[in-house]
Amino acid sequence: MQALIIDDFAVFRKLISDHLQSWGFEFTVAENGAAAQRILDQPDAPRLVLLDWILPDIDGIELCKRIRKSESNDAYTYVILLTGKEGRKNMLEAMHAGADDYLEKPFDELELKARLLVGKRILDLHAELVSARESMRHAATHDSLTGLMNRGEIVSVLEREVVRGARGSTPVGIILGDIDGFKKVNDTLGHLFGDEALREVGRRLRDQLRVYDSVGRYGGEEFLMILPDCTWEDTICRANEVREFIASAPVIYSGVEHLVTMSMGVSVADIGAKTDVEALLKFADLGLYAAKANGRNRVERFAEAAKPPSSRRAR
Ligand code: GH3
Ligand code: MG
Ligand code: MG
Repeated sequence: MQALIIDDFAVFRKLISDHLQSWGFEFTVAENGAAAQRILDQPDAPRLVLLDWILPDIDGIELCKRIRKSESNDAYTYVILLTGKEGRKNMLEAMHAGADDYLEKPFDELELKARLLVGKRILDLHAELVSARESMRHAATHDSLTGLMNRGEIVSVLEREVVRGARGSTPVGIILGDIDGFKKVNDTLGHLFGDEALREVGRRLRDQLRVYDSVGRYGGEEFLMILPDCTWEDTICRANEVREFIASAPVIYSGVEHLVTMSMGVSVADIGAKTDVEALLKFADLGLYAAKANGRNRVERFAEAAKPPSSRRAR
């Protein structure tokens, strides 16, 4: 755990540094408030701060307030304020300003160590909470089988991209892909093979996309891809590349090989045209229906479908 010692008095800096070193803490030292501020503004700033109340420039209380103001939800800074004898009466003011603890100078070595250990424990707990929150956020937005975004999340991305596209007058292509004859894959090769096929398709889709494209698992064996700044022509061309890549090599699992293919429907949020996400998804879905009806392992757009079905396609 990295600590920051802020003190304008060289003797105290040396004393605290020696203690921290002997207790195995890594630390950085600042001689005044401005230097401390520069260190604290860095992305990987120390989280355990030993702060002298009286400094030549920015005082400890002010620095405390600034630390709390600039703090994000992801990283807590634990501040122990070091006060002189006369500082004790202002101790509550320091706590209100955001200090977590205070210690009177000259301090007892063991007391300093105890305070540091409490600070370290609080920071460790905070880090655990942040990591648990991140895991929960990930679990709520991602599909556990493929690791891709789940339906809710990929649709949110689509909503954002469509708004961004409309603002920047750029099109957004979408591809809805569905694995062909997947029920039969499960029935003949088993569910475990089916699961691995879904994982492998997810990997291949991700491999084929650019960094600013997105892909998510839209349903059972359906995947939704979002291609910002792609016209109809680009989207159809990219969909065919992805489709060919999926079909270029068999999925192998437990010594069994099987070639998986995908049908795709494409749709584009055009400049100045419709930017309704629901309609975009519906048109992609109708294109997919056409791709299935026209023989599978192909890409279609709704406009090319002979006749729209009266209700949602049955797959
Ligand atoms: P089509 O070419 O018309 O798309 O036919 P299909 O067999 O792929 O379509 P259908 O909708 O009849 O079957 C989809 C199958 O996908 C049925 C379902 O059990 C399977 N499936 C959905 N989710 C999973 C999963 O997470 N794991 C496995 N192994 N199978 C899944
Ligand atoms: Mg299918
Ligand atoms: Mg399906």
